[in-house]
Amino acid sequence: MSRSATKSLGPIVIVGGGNAGVSIAARLRRRGVADVTIVEPRREHVYAPLQSHIAGGVAERREVVRSQARVTPRGVTWVPERVVAVHAGENSVELESGTRLDYGQLIIAAGIDQRWDAIPGLQEAAADGSLVSNYTLDLAEAASTALRDLDAGTVVFTQSAEPASCAGVAQKPMYLACDRWRERGVLDRIRVVFVSPEPAPFHIGAVASELRRTLDAYGIEAIYNADLAEVRPQASELDVVVDGQTTTIGYDVLHASPPQAAAAWIAESGLQGEDGFVDVDRETLRHRRWDNVWALGDAASLTRIRSGGAIRSQAKVIADALTRPDRKRRYDGYSETPFTVTAHSAVFAEFDRRGRLQPSIPWWRTLYRERRFTYVMDRWVLPWVYWNLILTGRA
Ligand SMILES: Cc1cc2nc3c(=O)[nH]c(=O)nc-3n(C[C@H](O)[C@H](O)[C@H](O)COP(=O)(O)OP(=O)(O)OC[C@H]3O[C@@H](n4cnc5c(N)ncnc54)[C@H](O)[C@@H]3O)c2cc1C
Repeated sequence: MSRSATKSLGPIVIVGGGNAGVSIAARLRRRGVADVTIVEPRREHVYAPLQSHIAGGVAERREVVRSQARVTPRGVTWVPERVVAVHAGENSVELESGTRLDYGQLIIAAGIDQRWDAIPGLQEAAADGSLVSNYTLDLAEAASTALRDLDAGTVVFTQSAEPASCAGVAQKPMYLACDRWRERGVLDRIRVVFVSPEPAPFHIGAVASELRRTLDAYGIEAIYNADLAEVRPQASELDVVVDGQTTTIGYDVLHASPPQAAAAWIAESGLQGEDGFVDVDRETLRHRRWDNVWALGDAASLTRIRSGGAIRSQAKVIADALTRPDRKRRYDGYSETPFTVTAHSAVFAEFDRRGRLQPSIPWWRTLYRERRFTYVMDRWVLPWVYWNLILTGRA
């Protein structure tokens, strides 16, 4: 990109240096854009998909974490702070310290907030170590030990209601744990309960059938259309509500997923759509009211099922719009949810926003079915691609 074209964009400020923020920053740098800043308060960058494997006992912390400094693309400025407001009328963001950063283009990639406080008892249980979860790194490590050491008892796995970051991945540690218990010959002594707000294990029938086969094979009791209403950690019991009826379940291990929501500052800054996420056009990713504001990843309202896999094409759309607008690239709504159903096979769902299967290898219509190949992709290939190609703007 020419120096004058770069200059006309003005400073580019990216809110959030997670999957989406670093991907788009790296793409823009590779296109020769000079003035790119990421605002990101965390010192450590985490590859969230492998947290499920940690919880399931087949991956380790060191595979998941890198310093934020190391993943920040060369030539990009990293401001280790939190954005508290966007003043779109003034083209500036306000940081927690009170400093303001002016932008020519603003890209919001701040992810989704985990709201452990939204269900009575859940936050307390997360804080005092009486629940485990693949949704934070520490709780995923705790899950690995708690699930591994169990010989008998009741384990409850809960899945988040939408909106959520790849909600279906709550099932990954559940199947991995069951596979291990089966191998150790203790699965018969463990009651496994899966509590889901959805009416089925997945919203696409063909994928749901694969997962039902897995649920049946492990003897998992699935409770659908169910809301987790309360957790009482002292009593090791929780309430789920189905059709207005409350059922209490006692547990030995609770593997919970948090309620999730858009960050409050998005609405406070007047950037939100109906669901509270950044109100961007679903194909161009440009804000509906502010021409120089963009959003991608979990912070944007683009697909019902948010995923890291979706960000690959979203980043290309914004990078093209800013540097090669003649291409008129559009986001087609692709997203994915991988399910590790054993410690060597996966059901890999890839779909568009209308719920139609959209395999990455287009002629392989049955790619979603349980396969060893997709396990290898999910466990080994995609993490490598993430660190080496996605975060460097090459994929
Ligand atoms: C446990 C788990 C397993 C998953 N498994 C898969 C999977 O197998 N496959 C898949 O495709 N997807 C998976 N996902 C989803 C995938 O990880 C997310 O969709 C992806 O990380 C979203 O990227 P993002 O950049 O939008 O958000 P994040 O990666 O969450 O990054 C957002 C960043 O913004 C920062 N931030 C937040 N607020 C502010 C602020 N106010 N100011 C500045 N910075 C801010 C945060 O600190 C964070 O670093 C999983 C998610 C989880 C949680």
